[in-house]
Amino acid sequence: MKYERVRNFIGGRFVDIKSNRTIPVISPLDGVLLSEMPCSSASALDEAVNAATKAFHSWSRTPIKERVQVFYRYKYLLEKNIQELAVLVSEENGKTMGEAIAEIEKCIELTEFATSLPQLITGEVLEVSKGVECRTEHVPLGVVASIVPFNFPSMVPNWTIPNALALGNCMIIKPSEKVPLSCGRLAELLKEAGLPDGVFSIVQGDREIVEAICDHPGIVAVSFVGSTKVAKLVYQRATHNLKRCLALGGAKNHLLVLPDAKADMTAQNVVASMSGCAGQRCMAASAMVGVGDIDHIIKKICDEARKVVPGENLGAVINKESKERIERYITEAEKDGAKVLVDGRGATVIGKDGGTYVGPTIIDYVKPGMSVATEEIFGPVISIMRTDTLDEALAIENANPYGNAASVFTQNGGAARYVIDRASAGMIGVNIGVPVPREPFSFGGWNESKFGVGDITGKSSIEFWTKLKKSTTKWNPEAGINWMS
Ligand code: NAD
Repeated sequence: MKYERVRNFIGGRFVDIKSNRTIPVISPLDGVLLSEMPCSSASALDEAVNAATKAFHSWSRTPIKERVQVFYRYKYLLEKNIQELAVLVSEENGKTMGEAIAEIEKCIELTEFATSLPQLITGEVLEVSKGVECRTEHVPLGVVASIVPFNFPSMVPNWTIPNALALGNCMIIKPSEKVPLSCGRLAELLKEAGLPDGVFSIVQGDREIVEAICDHPGIVAVSFVGSTKVAKLVYQRATHNLKRCLALGGAKNHLLVLPDAKADMTAQNVVASMSGCAGQRCMAASAMVGVGDIDHIIKKICDEARKVVPGENLGAVINKESKERIERYITEAEKDGAKVLVDGRGATVIGKDGGTYVGPTIIDYVKPGMSVATEEIFGPVISIMRTDTLDEALAIENANPYGNAASVFTQNGGAARYVIDRASAGMIGVNIGVPVPREPFSFGGWNESKFGVGDITGKSSIEFWTKLKKSTTKWNPEAGINWMS
């Protein structure tokens, strides 16, 4: 085993997990056993909630300008340790080192935003009648939880950690059992940055801990990022227990390509979007709808895809089951009459026999009802459908139940605006394959890609991680009593 057994982080220190049920942590890059993760039981969550509840009193009363000093130092530590953090992400998730470095750079940007929160959460005050003032302030919620997926072992945790903590909450995070290592390193850096013990804890585990989080009376809010199936379960269970909840789900992002699109630029963007992080991004392009004659662009897309080589500029998919599932989708599409123009099935990398790779795959002549057109594949695969008109293309996009992202490729401003107005997705791109809004803009989809109100990052996250206190004061004795008193 390359690393020691996974432990929880509770009350500012790592603690052994007492469990006979363990999950191996295997690198998708080469099949090497990195570590093993014992599954925590609900009693470990109790310990973390107790530590967080104790820490909350003093942390929530620490002025925000003081709290964010921790995140200035944390940002510096992320920068200082970027290489080592990226190695861990790449090893446990299977993405390339370039992608892992980009992931840590995004963590730095997210932390940078958190340090600006004092400027953004100033309240309001107004003299509402003679001598009487109303004032609002954002106050922290209490002990909150964050449940995260495997595809960004460091970035998705950092969607929630800096903002929730800078805003005065104490957090318990439940990493994905597939990638439990990166969060432990983040905990060490937060401690080194001066975060008081108990403000941040990690409870490692699987479904049992997720359910215990949703049920725990000491946790007031839950954020979740993962598949739609689990997002629904978590949202229903947490809100049933009267907790605030924001649950982000899966995606099936459509790219609409018009014949006037710049061919080279479109091909590069389409391929980068569908194959980046081996297609394991909730913002990855998964379906493309060509409007009219776009054969010249499809040819360039295939040329670009052939430049994407597993083990070189394409990482691995998370595990064997995932590789098999993705390859099954491709085979099924072929049986249903679609044409596989670039085939990534059976990809291997010399010297990395245990790695789980799928090559870039372009499937053309897909019909809207096929499984590759409707389901989230979560691999480096794009399904191309064709229509005669933009309205037909939009109808296909609108009919999919998800709504994370949609993009249009065109040189026509009017057509682009038409798509922005009509696509049923929370994040729209024009000539951009991965339209992730950067801070201070918030990240979040629509429809079955998100349950709950507001967004998880950026300014919108302030509303999720705080509640408003409204106070009305009268210090002036001459103010008397009026109709409002
Ligand atoms: P997942 O839903 O399997 O797991 C997410 C978390 O839920 C993990 O911590 C896991 O331990 C837990 N979990 C899994 N099954 C559970 C169950 N039955 N009951 C309770 N908890 C359970 O997701 P994943 O495979 O880790 O991640 C990939 C998915 O996440 C994709 O669908 C992707 O689109 C989505 N995702 C969405 C966003 C977004 O912003 N919308 C971002 C990243 C990933």
